[in-house]
Amino acid sequence: MDKEIYRAFLDDLTRILYVAAGFLLILSLVIRIINAVKVASIKDYKGKYDYLRTRENKMVWYSLLAFSIAVFLILNTFEKETVLISEWWFVIRMFIALCIATLIGYVGYLILKFYNPGRIQKKLDKWRYMPRISSAGNEMKLLSEAEEDVYLDEGMQAEENIFSVDYDVWVDEKTKEIKIEKYHGYLEVLKCGTCTFQTLKLREEEIIKPATETEDGELLKHYECTYCHSKRTTKHKIGKLLKSEKDFKLPIDYILKGERKVKSIMVEIISSKGERSEFYFQNKEDAARFLAEFEYDKSPVEE
Ligand SMILES: [Zn+2]
Repeated sequence: MDKEIYRAFLDDLTRILYVAAGFLLILSLVIRIINAVKVASIKDYKGKYDYLRTRENKMVWYSLLAFSIAVFLILNTFEKETVLISEWWFVIRMFIALCIATLIGYVGYLILKFYNPGRIQKKLDKWRYMPRISSAGNEMKLLSEAEEDVYLDEGMQAEENIFSVDYDVWVDEKTKEIKIEKYHGYLEVLKCGTCTFQTLKLREEEIIKPATETEDGELLKHYECTYCHSKRTTKHKIGKLLKSEKDFKLPIDYILKGERKVKSIMVEIISSKGERSEFYFQNKEDAARFLAEFEYDKSPVEE
């Protein structure tokens, strides 16, 4: 390529990159400002809570993304004299810029995923337990779990009893004004289609067709509403059996119902020859059923 054309191209590109990077840096900042203004503008504490819970992490992530891309663009304006020597340096510079920007984005992502939830939780607790003010202007009192039941209807109590929803009841002791706020409970429970409370619980799992190494199996899940007692059944696929347990992986985010701190149960079987096999289960029922069914010759052979 003609040196002069190449130089003119680089000059133009540099100008465009500066403008684009400047725009992204401003955008990154604006997202953070909008986020802060939004939180401040929500008057209701429960509203602040809901916004922080659903939007905060996403907004910070968009802001970080805009910043990383801006860094990528700016790095592509560096070392112009070197890049003029050969087109190869143009490609190398772009590659290095991509590595650095990706690293910034990735480190940010890790912080958001592992550190930020704890920080957000602190803010959430602050807004959830900050004393509410009644319409008469009095400070309200948060009732304890034992005290609040009189103010909750049966459906709400049923939801609380299976930990699917947590209700906070605030009372103005002078005027008797009540404020009831709904929060996510400790366990994940489905919403009943009939009574619309979050009280649908898994009662039984039934394997109608066991999986083989070549074919998927089928599983029925029977649910029952603990409040209105309506029933629901859903059909699920069971993945093919794997030849080696090395391929066996638990879904990372799986949460045991009622055993949130238990990630998995491992059964280790050691043969008379000293060969060890490990099997993982999501709950003790599956582990017990497995042991009842287990015969050594049927176990998958490690290759
Ligand atoms: Zn129901």
